[in-house]
Amino acid sequence: MIEPFRIKSIEHIKMTSREERVKFLEEAKLNVFMLRAEDVLLDWLTDSGTGAMSSAQWAAIMLGDESYAGAKSFFKLKEVLNDITGMEHVIPTHQGRAAESVLFGAVCKKGDIVPNNSHFDTTRGNLEFIGVEAVDLVIPEGRQPATIHPFKGNIDIGAVEELLKKEKDRIPFGMMTVTNNTGGGQPVSMANIREYSQLLKKYNKPLIIDACRFAENAMFIKMREPGYEKKSIKEICQELFSYADGATMSAKKDALVNIGGFIVLKSDQWLDSVRELLILWEGFLTYGGMAGRDLEAMAVGLQEGIDESYLRYRLRTTEYLGEKMEALGIGFVKPTGGHAVYIDAKSILPDMPVEHYPACALCNALYIEGGIRGVEIGSVMFGKRLDDGTETYHNMELVRLAFPRRMYTQSHLDFAAETLGKVKSNASKIRGVKITKQAKFLRHFTAEFDWV
Ligand SMILES: *Cc1c(COP(=O)(O)O)cnc(C)c1O
Repeated sequence: MIEPFRIKSIEHIKMTSREERVKFLEEAKLNVFMLRAEDVLLDWLTDSGTGAMSSAQWAAIMLGDESYAGAKSFFKLKEVLNDITGMEHVIPTHQGRAAESVLFGAVCKKGDIVPNNSHFDTTRGNLEFIGVEAVDLVIPEGRQPATIHPFKGNIDIGAVEELLKKEKDRIPFGMMTVTNNTGGGQPVSMANIREYSQLLKKYNKPLIIDACRFAENAMFIKMREPGYEKKSIKEICQELFSYADGATMSAKKDALVNIGGFIVLKSDQWLDSVRELLILWEGFLTYGGMAGRDLEAMAVGLQEGIDESYLRYRLRTTEYLGEKMEALGIGFVKPTGGHAVYIDAKSILPDMPVEHYPACALCNALYIEGGIRGVEIGSVMFGKRLDDGTETYHNMELVRLAFPRRMYTQSHLDFAAETLGKVKSNASKIRGVKITKQAKFLRHFTAEFDWV
């Protein structure tokens, strides 16, 4: 691994003692979401909007044209997106979920069905909010953590065809998420996108790409799919988008900015209704909820995000930590995805009962041992307390470590591997937790815990 950048401006991270971290965590009611970020050493809660901008992006910020309408910055962004996606219409939004709500609001109606490999939670939320059924149809391998497959994000074409045969009048379009975030950051193959697009065409349905990690997905295609070894990342992206009719994107991911998003559309079929909602909810057509300087930074970030040496380093980071975990005998979702590793908490805490929330316990242990903040993806996030006081549990207990872009170095990963090793060898001392307070929806963000 080599980081294809050097450091020009640094941000200090605070060293704390184990005693301090126990105190901070107890003050946060044993929920890492409630910690102050400054008390975290390696903050791997999410890769969304947390990355480092380049000196070129900071320079571009000074060129921001803050005109209300027709700003120069918009046309710079439009030119870059026209080139990468081949789509004519660019509609800026303040982040990914706004792109979703504007597009779905313009195109979907109550009772519709939208198939996808896996809907991200905001995508599902925005669809369900207007009464649309969001159906996840990822291939069976995509649901099995230990099964190795080069494109575990692929959609099950047979299952989509069945749905189209039965319910075609209720389906406004098909979606595909690249990479499949909810399914572990797993990529989708070009062949699968092509086949899905052809199937949708047969039924006269457009394909919309959730493009948050399109560049990481393109790099996986280059490395894993025969025929793409010699293609440039841009060529792969252009082919990928050529099969689609539109895309929504959170620029906080592969566009390497801290805030931003957009919709792109190939034809003007939906344009008028999309523009109407954009102006109502986000802002005028040429800024859509962003400042001119944000558009500038995004235009540069999109081009840096498809740089091959950057992407090679990016995908190597997860793979590298995966190799270290393999050597330590720690289980994780395989192969490692683009933006994160998903640790199987049961491989470290095999005897902890699920009622003591092993993934949450492991998450806390990582913070106490090394100041590392990950996120629990297990029974706190997906379980529920029913009205009769009983609990439902999730079938997996995972801790996700998601890596902000261009922010941490190989030594940080080595430190994380050492920390994981220590946590594993002291696993018998790790304490489970019980929930003392919780919200009815999305309880993991604000739940309070006590030690068992
Ligand atoms: C982050 C994300 C979104 C939502 O984007 P925000 O900018 O957080 O609103 C949508 N889809 C996927 C796949 C994402 O990862």
